[in-house]
Amino acid sequence: MRRFEGRRAVVTGGASGIGRATALRLAGEGAEVLIGDIDEEGARAVVAEGEGRIAFQRCDVTDPGDIASLMVTADTAGGIDALFNNAGAGGTRAVIDEIDVAGWDATQNLLLRSVALGIREAAPLMAKRGGGAIVNTASIAALMSGAAPTAYSVAKAGVLHLSRMAAADLARHRIRVNAVCPGFITTNIFTSTVGIEGEKRDQANRVIAQMASNAQPIARAGLPEDIAAAVAYLLSDDASFVTGTHILVDGGMAVGMRHSW
Ligand code: NAD
Repeated sequence: MRRFEGRRAVVTGGASGIGRATALRLAGEGAEVLIGDIDEEGARAVVAEGEGRIAFQRCDVTDPGDIASLMVTADTAGGIDALFNNAGAGGTRAVIDEIDVAGWDATQNLLLRSVALGIREAAPLMAKRGGGAIVNTASIAALMSGAAPTAYSVAKAGVLHLSRMAAADLARHRIRVNAVCPGFITTNIFTSTVGIEGEKRDQANRVIAQMASNAQPIARAGLPEDIAAAVAYLLSDDASFVTGTHILVDGGMAVGMRHSW
């Protein structure tokens, strides 16, 4: 499929995991992709994999100026047709009766304000081209407890409703806005949040993947490519009548535990 031939996409958090897989998927379908991330080394590797179709600009999504600058760069290079607001990390792990203001604010700014500002900056640039499509990464944690800590889960629930609100606001500009809710996907997010690196990280990732696949009806680890496929659909014209909703890609985890009988 070459659904993004002649199209231009911005992907935040494109240096790793879900963002990396999505940048490669979009580029593989013909898009020119600009990734924004704080991990310069990871991003350079993705640029190399992109065979001339992926570019990188350093962007800390907690910095409103960085987000604006990323969108301006994409616009100057030829415009923005598609935006994947995806960068993120675990945030504070505190329970609600122990949470501190700094941890709460940092988590909301990283996971929720960043998405609002990404949409705000990109929407006028898309509108002047006659429209576009936006996908925001929420989470299964937006829909249920037990999947992630409180501040993270609340931010992701915010991303879900922000996607609905933005869809309603921006339909007049022919801009569609949707969200994707990954279940447990094998990436570095679980280990980087608690500072585990190197060989120990790979070991921990294997344990987490095994635990997740034991719990969900589709008994295998979720892969970044599983999410990239859903995001590519939502960003493509195949979804031209789809806005203000989300796709849950979780191996059936939200349905309940895998039956053992
Ligand atoms: P990942 O750690 O592999 O990738 C996250 C990327 O975001 C990294 O490249 C990182 O450098 C970047 N990033 C972090 N903070 C940033 C900042 N301030 N500015 C710019 N870039 C920043 O993890 P992932 O699992 O691919 O996570 C991608 C998104 O998916 C996140 O929003 C995460 O919350 C969400 N998510 C992941 C899972 C999962 O199971 N992996 C489940 C649900 C939702």
